[in-house]
Amino acid sequence: MKVKLLDLKAQYKNIEKEIDEAIKDVLESTQFIMGPNVKELEKEIADFTGVKYGIGVANGTDSLMLTLKALGVGSGDEVITTPFTFFASAEVTSVLGAIPVFADIDKNTYCIDPKSIEEKITEKTKAIIPVHIFGQMCDMDSIMDIAKRHNIPVIEDACQAIGAEYKGKKAGSFGVAGCYSFFPTKNLGCYGDGGMIVTNDQDLAEKIKMLRVHGSKVKYHHEVIGYNSRLDEIQAAILRVKFKYLNKYNELRREKAKIYNELLKDTPVVLPVEEKNYKHIYHQYSICVEKRDDMVSYLKNKGVATSIYYPIPVHLLKVYENLAYKKGDLPVTENICERVFALPMYPELPIEQQEYVVSCIKEFYNNK
Ligand SMILES: *Cc1c(COP(=O)(O)O)cnc(C)c1O
Repeated sequence: MKVKLLDLKAQYKNIEKEIDEAIKDVLESTQFIMGPNVKELEKEIADFTGVKYGIGVANGTDSLMLTLKALGVGSGDEVITTPFTFFASAEVTSVLGAIPVFADIDKNTYCIDPKSIEEKITEKTKAIIPVHIFGQMCDMDSIMDIAKRHNIPVIEDACQAIGAEYKGKKAGSFGVAGCYSFFPTKNLGCYGDGGMIVTNDQDLAEKIKMLRVHGSKVKYHHEVIGYNSRLDEIQAAILRVKFKYLNKYNELRREKAKIYNELLKDTPVVLPVEEKNYKHIYHQYSICVEKRDDMVSYLKNKGVATSIYYPIPVHLLKVYENLAYKKGDLPVTENICERVFALPMYPELPIEQQEYVVSCIKEFYNNK
């Protein structure tokens, strides 16, 4: 049996007519930049998150970068984040000439460890970027408490967590801003690149809106040096169709996760931990095992696609050699990076395929 990591085609086929019509409507309207779909989607996603403003941008990376820029982060400043994430969470800080500072993660949830954040704060710390990794939120009460005591803004990297909750409140609604990515593989993905910032802070929203159109509020009246980073109208139209199904998709992912949990419960596999008061949306269903690389190649030979998020902790990437971290500095992250990998997970994943994946994992243990 062949099992894909995810199947975007299956999802498209289920909503093909609606998507095709939405795209055609934009083509007919010829409003390709900042049209009505971008405006409506910004409202819809702000409402969904439970905040006042949504600002569509070109991708998730820009949603983080424009927010940092609008907060005045620049040369010499420090931004604390996790090394257990996609590179972009740290890259944006470096692009602005500031220094990413890495805190270690919690060994159960793989999210940034609040205690480790507090240890890394200096007078240069200008922002904290917790990443809601794999679709489960960070311990936001502890993080917001630390941030308030030190008067440092929190930007939530919610690129993997649209719809995830902590104590009944949505990812993106805790910090000064939340950042979403609509990369095709994300829980709400478009058919290209896209991203959005959500915030309650009117002043911040205005600044980011300026930054995304070359630093201007009024066309040709440029007030600051900005960027060209807008959410594309065709992508916004696609996202408005898919957004209607987001809750359903997230619920289906949660069901698949339950099935895996049940099927895998008597194996040596370390399962994802969903903490009390948290709603995990399983952007990834990531497990930890000893002999990870052997298991991954065993599964590959059996036709099961898997992926390793993340094989190298960000603090040990070659590009950050200059920051002078060494092996052993962030031991929890380093240990998880050696053992973690993701199983196939998407809303349409057939149960027979999940059963097959787990039977292969059990076979791996029996053949040892
Ligand atoms: C995907 C992702 C990003 C970047 O989003 P893009 O839309 O690809 O630019 C940033 N942070 C995390 C945690 C992500 O998963």
